[in-house]
Amino acid sequence: ASDTMLYLDGVSVAFDGFKAINNLSIIVRPAEMLAIIGPNGAGKTTMMDIITGKTRPDSGEVLFDGRTDLTKLDEAAIANLGIGRKFQKPTVFESQTVWDNIEMALKKPRGVFATLFYSASADDVARIDEILDTVRLSARKNDFAANLSHGQKQWLEIGMLLAQDPKLLLVDEPVAGMTDSETVETAKLLKQIATTRSVVVVEHDMSFVRDLGSRVTCLAEGSVLAEGSLGQVSANPVVIERYLGR
Ligand code: ADP
Repeated sequence: ASDTMLYLDGVSVAFDGFKAINNLSIIVRPAEMLAIIGPNGAGKTTMMDIITGKTRPDSGEVLFDGRTDLTKLDEAAIANLGIGRKFQKPTVFESQTVWDNIEMALKKPRGVFATLFYSASADDVARIDEILDTVRLSARKNDFAANLSHGQKQWLEIGMLLAQDPKLLLVDEPVAGMTDSETVETAKLLKQIATTRSVVVVEHDMSFVRDLGSRVTCLAEGSVLAEGSLGQVSANPVVIERYLGR
């Protein structure tokens, strides 16, 4: 196994001549969490779009798991390699139960007949239970997703992504709109996930980033402005001047 899950190597992309990502290099290790912070327009969303193949960079490489250059692949192929992305807005099947949402998201055998005769095996049941436990929804498994709180819907969607067994999970502002206690719980569950998978979290909420306790990269103008612990990044004079505005 490689010691590098994701390596953006000198990646650049311009939109109509404007460099949204400018010679960006980022490394994420296996089973490591990285928080990406930075002002609006820093390039955080564009970076995620490049990793998932939604946007193709003009130059640079995006190496996954030490070998595959993602810039040569389309979105479906990249997802199949084991990269899951959680967008800001939760998308769950409201009229289905929590359990069924996870079950539908499990990797299933392919082909018409395999799908037609599919029923959850004992292994699948154990796996779904484990996922529901991770995303704090065991007690809600028979409830319709529509009846969950906003925060619980976010957790359910994270559970649906886990059902795909990703090696790398990309999460965009997971705690926007969550209650304080849901926010604290989200930091815990993401830390738990990051003990076995790589997790990249784009986030504005600094107290949440502090709770994550992960390595932090601060982007500005499409490049890395500062890296390290949140303490190191927020003590960086350039970050203080240009981002924190103190
Ligand atoms: P962030 O997520 O950090 O707020 P973005 O990645 O959304 O930043 O945007 C970075 C910059 O690139 C912004 O100036 C934005 O206006 C620009 N940008 C992003 N996507 C496009 C696009 N498809 N076409 C033109 N400009 C874009």
